[in-house]
Amino acid sequence: MVALGKRPLNVKFILPALKEATDPYWRPIKYSLFPPLGLAQLAAYLSPDDYVVLTDEHVEPLTLEDNPDLVVIQVYITNAYRAYRIADHYRKRGAFVCLGGLHVTSMPHEAAEHADSIFLGPGEQIFPQFLTDFRAGNPQRLYASTSGRTLERAPSPRRDLIKRHCYLVPNSIVVTRGCPQHCDFCYKDAFYQGGKTFYTQRVDEALAEISRLPGRHVYFLDDHMLGDRRFAEGLFDGMKGMRRLFQGAATVDSILRGNLIERAAEAGLRSIFVGFETLAPANLKQCNKRQNLGRDYKAVTDRLHSLGIMINGSFVFGMDDDGPDVFRRTVDWAVEHGVTTATFHIQTPYPGTGLHARMEREGRMTTRDWNLYDTRHVVYRPARLTAEQLKTGYDWAYEEFYTWSNIAKASLHHGTLKHQAKHFFYASGWKKFEAVWDFIIRTRQLNRTTKILESVLSKVTGKKEDHTFVPPIPSPQNAELVTISTEQVS
Ligand code: SF4
Repeated sequence: MVALGKRPLNVKFILPALKEATDPYWRPIKYSLFPPLGLAQLAAYLSPDDYVVLTDEHVEPLTLEDNPDLVVIQVYITNAYRAYRIADHYRKRGAFVCLGGLHVTSMPHEAAEHADSIFLGPGEQIFPQFLTDFRAGNPQRLYASTSGRTLERAPSPRRDLIKRHCYLVPNSIVVTRGCPQHCDFCYKDAFYQGGKTFYTQRVDEALAEISRLPGRHVYFLDDHMLGDRRFAEGLFDGMKGMRRLFQGAATVDSILRGNLIERAAEAGLRSIFVGFETLAPANLKQCNKRQNLGRDYKAVTDRLHSLGIMINGSFVFGMDDDGPDVFRRTVDWAVEHGVTTATFHIQTPYPGTGLHARMEREGRMTTRDWNLYDTRHVVYRPARLTAEQLKTGYDWAYEEFYTWSNIAKASLHHGTLKHQAKHFFYASGWKKFEAVWDFIIRTRQLNRTTKILESVLSKVTGKKEDHTFVPPIPSPQNAELVTISTEQVS
């Protein structure tokens, strides 16, 4: 390959559609939530005179007749086959193709057959090195992130490349990488192996990034926003005067510990994704989710309710201690404890994880069709359930949790009418008005719903309301993730 020197590059970043986005279960709204921040972050390392296009196939058609110099594709397990087809297509057209992301890091040999270069692990350190080598005409086959991981002074994502009007939550942001925990079913350890597994931005840089986002609503896509106490304290203290309303994710133990969650609520936290995963201690032990072991889940929901923070509870079915009663017990618990929305998963042993290694050792994996690794299909042999029982029970749990009567029952768990109404509108709005969401997406009006979301996320506790005036959202065509947190949507 000849050196390109300083000539401007023509670069195309692609997030191919996940397989499930094309099947009958597809809820378009679920795939129109967050822009592809990881790709926008990589784009920030290009020169200002490079020509850049970013295409998210979930919200816009992918043009295949162009001739970029460089194509960078983000690969998840359920878009892997699609990503490989796109990669093969562009290589035939003479483009240099790079593949990166969770699945590439777990299955580097598989991905390498479809790429000129592959990226393993987070991209902040390796992509600049790749660009230098590429311009010099000497790109390597493999770039692996190991030492020197940091977010300090990393450029902000190229939000100008993101079509804000295509997303319900254009103001998504990631201020940390990884997670301090080590659950054996999680991709995190495989993705961050060989270097730091949890690190944060500098507080002032995170606050500056937040202050540049229009409107009030912000969604933190970090795996664990309370994972570093000092960082989180600084962040929440800095956000106090910003009048933001935000959503994020944290672990059971971090919600119970100290007063961090109160500080988050004061700063504007209104809804949180919590990985309860299972009600069975034996399951927690087996999957190494030790941060949940011996914790009082009721104390978690009580504390969040008292702060007016809505709960998106995550639950996994099919762990080895789960028998046929797990579905009913889990749904009943979630409804009785006022969980606002629930994300149910069929346990899925992703390649590269400890869970997958154990299942392989035990001879229990039943398919390597990556399209089925979407947490809605059974890809292994469960211990105390048949595969059919697991699939049927999972489908039943979703339907049962979101019946009108259960939404109403869970809402009534709260003490004030306003809190009850907020719960009811949020849960039913998310799951019961599919046709309305479809219409809004088709007519490219998603950005107009942000104002409604901000109203629903307004404060329900305390003497003084903080939402007497919700400013209109400007509609700039700006835009940003580093990992799409598919965990965080139900
Ligand atoms: S499942 Fe959640 S808490 Fe566990 S390691 Fe992954 S991100 Fe961390």
